[in-house]
Amino acid sequence: MENKISVKIEKSNRKTISIQVLDTATVQVKAPLRCSNKNIWEFISSKTSWINKQIAQINKKQHFANNFDFEKYTYLLGGIYTKQDLSYVEAAKKYLPKIAEKLAAQLGYWYKELKLKHSKRIWGSFSSKKQLVLNINCVFLPLNLIEYVIVHELCHSKEMNHSPKFWKLVGIHLPDYKKRKEQLKNYAFVLNLKLQ
Ligand SMILES: [Zn+2]
Repeated sequence: MENKISVKIEKSNRKTISIQVLDTATVQVKAPLRCSNKNIWEFISSKTSWINKQIAQINKKQHFANNFDFEKYTYLLGGIYTKQDLSYVEAAKKYLPKIAEKLAAQLGYWYKELKLKHSKRIWGSFSSKKQLVLNINCVFLPLNLIEYVIVHELCHSKEMNHSPKFWKLVGIHLPDYKKRKEQLKNYAFVLNLKLQ
């Protein structure tokens, strides 16, 4: 391992050993009570390349997020503007429903109602009551990723789970969805923004 990494070891009444990279400097290992320290360290060293990969991924995301300067710029629908006195929430209410309506009409989908909500966890959802929910923070994303989120949720109106059938359907509408899905991961930090 290149950097100094602290390892938190937690022993408890569990059956298996698990490992999680909490951040670029911390790894957490959960182990059964009977597991010896030697075994734990062997387990950790067997996971070295996996740990490094996880850390590289966290660094990549962090680097991506650091490219944004919120003091100086306003980011809207993937565009960068010099600091403007605009409300992201108002912009989201204005643009997101239009984009969703257009896509649904184009692709032949229907929803009863569109709701904009903030969640730190998910970009959108589609309920059995035919309600399309979009994370209000989507307004921050580039248009191709907003489209991906909306198409993904619309496809849930036909396939409620993430089965191969579901992904096939997404692929029919967006042949490059895998690329978009990957790009969206870079924007995970956006979920934590409190837009005003
Ligand atoms: Zn989904």
